[in-house]
Amino acid sequence: MNLEYSAGEQRFREEVRAWIDEAYDAELREMMAQSKNGYLDKEGQRCWQKKLHARGWAAPDWPAEYGGPGWTPTERFLFQSEIAAAGCPRVVPMGLKMVAPVIMRFGTELQKARFLPPTLSSDIFWCQGYSEPGSGSDLSSLQMKAVRDGDHYVLNGSKIWTTHAQWADWMFCLVRTSRDGSKQAGISFLLVEMKTPGITVDPLPLLDGPMPGEQEVNQVFFEDVRVPLENLIGEEGQGWTCAKYLLEFERGGAYGPTLRYQLEKVRQIAARQPADDGGRLIDDASFRRKLLELEIQVEAVDAAELRLFSGVSSGASIGAASSMVKLAGTETLQAISELAVEAVGPQGWPFIRDTWAEVQGRAAAPRPGPDYAGALLPRYFNYRKTSIYGGSSEIQRNIIAKQVLGL
Ligand SMILES: Cc1cc2nc3c(=O)[nH]c(=O)nc-3n(C[C@H](O)[C@H](O)[C@H](O)COP(=O)(O)OP(=O)(O)OC[C@H]3O[C@@H](n4cnc5c(N)ncnc54)[C@H](O)[C@@H]3O)c2cc1C
Repeated sequence: MNLEYSAGEQRFREEVRAWIDEAYDAELREMMAQSKNGYLDKEGQRCWQKKLHARGWAAPDWPAEYGGPGWTPTERFLFQSEIAAAGCPRVVPMGLKMVAPVIMRFGTELQKARFLPPTLSSDIFWCQGYSEPGSGSDLSSLQMKAVRDGDHYVLNGSKIWTTHAQWADWMFCLVRTSRDGSKQAGISFLLVEMKTPGITVDPLPLLDGPMPGEQEVNQVFFEDVRVPLENLIGEEGQGWTCAKYLLEFERGGAYGPTLRYQLEKVRQIAARQPADDGGRLIDDASFRRKLLELEIQVEAVDAAELRLFSGVSSGASIGAASSMVKLAGTETLQAISELAVEAVGPQGWPFIRDTWAEVQGRAAAPRPGPDYAGALLPRYFNYRKTSIYGGSSEIQRNIIAKQVLGL
């Protein structure tokens, strides 16, 4: 693989760095320091994404004809690496990275004109309605019914684990339009406006911080929800093809730079935390060994990702490599979040007590310990999700076993 950057590419990287220095301002940095999941709240997120949009950089992967920057694969990679290395908020993927490529590929001209511009400018937010109670890894068993009635579908059923459904203006979802033939053949891909009568969004509080308004995932109920036929993407029964196409985009990501950034934060924390012998934690032999082991893991993920990128830019298909990078990337991210919690020890604990105090309407006591300790335990809990969503680690291992090892 060729990892040499041309002079033009190096200039491009400098341009991105200079923009980040200015746009990723003190207020956004402050909010990100307390983020448990790499995102801000809805308004913070909209503010960041609009800054990217104003510069023409909200959707690095979009073709220029739809408003993307028209970058080469190398420029896209450099951009994503710089954004991750600076610890910037991630863009919410459901619109810009997930449904948009599906609309571009399978949507009508009318649907493209209606949905792509407001998605690009972050004037609408999306959520993903794939999983159902009982249908996660085995997604094709999904049951949510969509029955034709005149020029509408009528939806009944429920979606679960729907990230940011409480923010979303629209949901893209998989529904069952037929029970004939294979399970996959009866699935269709629909766009549903979240304010349609009959939709209820119920928050699912998780261990990472069940604060009011702070929930990340939800269960969404549909009772006789009427959706115009014009909101169908592709043909009726083509939903499984759309769903698989979308998953290719869901599993990508610049893990290497993100992991390096997170590990550097742990190193900085360990330089400030005391060790048992009264010295600094960073000088403790046992802690250093764990840090260095993770550093090796991060370098390995980065190298695998660069190899993947190098292959893609010379026209190779991604195949099972995206599963390998997702598996190694998410498991390393979890290990780093665990080491961060170990570094602050009991100073990370007040999170649980403060959270429940607020839920119960009591004032939280002032948090003991340094500021940087507060977000570490919520982040540790939150990152447990990364080996579940987008296809669990077991499912990724199955793909690798089948496609790479031929088992
Ligand atoms: C925080 C979070 C956010 C999410 N956001 C969304 C969202 O926005 N939209 C959405 O549609 N979904 C979302 N999901 C759902 C996610 O995609 C599913 O949780 C995931 O697909 C697993 O499905 P499940 O929870 O039903 O578990 P199951 O599929 O029931 O799996 C349970 C366990 O069995 C293992 N398992 C299952 N099948 C196999 C197999 N064939 N071989 C080996 N092991 C297997 C799994 O790995 C897992 O450990 C989210 C999940 C989480 C945790």
